[in-house]
Amino acid sequence: MTHQHAPGSVREERQPPREGVEEVAPGIMRVQLPISLPGLGHVNCYAMEDGRGITLVDPGLPGPTTWKALQRTMASAGLPIERVHSVVVTHSHPDHFGQAGRFRRKYGADIITHRTFRTFLDPEAEDQEAADDMEIADRPAKALVESARGQDLSPGPMGKVTPWGGERHSMPRSRRLRYWAMRKAAGKFLPTPTPTTRVEDAQVLSLGGREWVAVHTPGHTIDHLCLFDPAAGVMISGDHVLPTITPHISGLGTTVDPLKDFFDSLDRMTTFSDVRTVLPAHGLAFTDLATRAEDIKRHHHERLEKLRAASGELGRGTVHEYMQVLFAERSWGPMAESETYAHLEHLRLLGEADVDDSGAQLRYSFD
Ligand SMILES: [Zn+2]
Ligand SMILES: [Zn+2]
Repeated sequence: MTHQHAPGSVREERQPPREGVEEVAPGIMRVQLPISLPGLGHVNCYAMEDGRGITLVDPGLPGPTTWKALQRTMASAGLPIERVHSVVVTHSHPDHFGQAGRFRRKYGADIITHRTFRTFLDPEAEDQEAADDMEIADRPAKALVESARGQDLSPGPMGKVTPWGGERHSMPRSRRLRYWAMRKAAGKFLPTPTPTTRVEDAQVLSLGGREWVAVHTPGHTIDHLCLFDPAAGVMISGDHVLPTITPHISGLGTTVDPLKDFFDSLDRMTTFSDVRTVLPAHGLAFTDLATRAEDIKRHHHERLEKLRAASGELGRGTVHEYMQVLFAERSWGPMAESETYAHLEHLRLLGEADVDDSGAQLRYSFD
């Protein structure tokens, strides 16, 4: 990685939210909202005004803590929350779509997403990981956790095996209980929004007194959307391109090769030569979009190289074994396995790896 990151310092994506509102590009205000997820300390919500009122991009996690933080911070900047007429959601993770449904219900706001947007509470997906660590703020959900205690959870959501034959039981029971409760509560209490406007790639949106071009960037999720303002040279990059960390690539996505999707979407970032300000969903604004996109690609190519190299020793290795090569021990778990699986499948689809599916677990080997 070529980004600057002094050893021992806390990455900017992990910093707690900054107080107040900052104008990060002309007419674009940033509100940092609290989240507590692995590796993340806040999520950026961007606000912009036009004659009709306010548009928000990514209004944070569900729950009253975020709502109150939004209310307080926006009011302090003369941006009353009831003036919000549109909410753009970059992708289907709860730290991004969280409050969208509430804006719809309370103020009739439009919810704008990519055409393929869907919330999908898969216990292995990042959104579920996020759900696990996010505050289950609604009391009914907590009550569900209580009532779930002592019950036999099998054949609960974690009872199935993964596509690669690994066990889904690697997480502690307390966490499984919370997953179970979240799923149980999701329909009623996790406000998963229904988009009112689904956009296509290259569609133009008039929001915040300017024209934004929708840029579909699948990879991190299939429905990931960036917004580009060619006049001001601003790219709102969501989780697709972050300043110092790389987004999770799930092997459990609905496309054949999510890593290839991600590479293609990163390549697209290098075609926007007129970007002067990149506004990510986590961390601070930065300038050089193409360089950062190349860095992230290089990071994944290094990981692919590690897998090739490891195959000499592993022979026919399981996804779990390859995961142990790719990830530090503190990161081992379902998300690391899923990302390893995405990388192995990418190599298999390139014709570089073979898979043996005759046993209980998939085994990958390289020639
Ligand atoms: Zn995400
Ligand atoms: Zn995110």
